[in-house]
Amino acid sequence: MQLRIFFKTFPETANCPSCGKVGTIRRSRTRNLLEAAVKLTKLANIYKCRECGWRGILKKYTVDRYSFITLFFYIGLVALVAYIIRMVLLKNFGT
Ligand SMILES: [Zn+2]
Repeated sequence: MQLRIFFKTFPETANCPSCGKVGTIRRSRTRNLLEAAVKLTKLANIYKCRECGWRGILKKYTVDRYSFITLFFYIGLVALVAYIIRMVLLKNFGT
């Protein structure tokens, strides 16, 4: 049972999507509004490869196949707590 839904990725240490080399990815400055917007979300960033000149957006967070199970678990937990609180309130203050 895992408790995390999002996992941080480290694009700087990942393979280049274009040439496949490791350790050549560096963060790149934003060049337009779209890239600035991407950067603002904090979920992704602009990267470029020093070797082949590839430039693009890479996610900073990822989910795995257990993330959805964890998410449903949290939703269920919140619903259960809300139900218990409602019952307690109704028992004490309800008519
Ligand atoms: Zn490359």
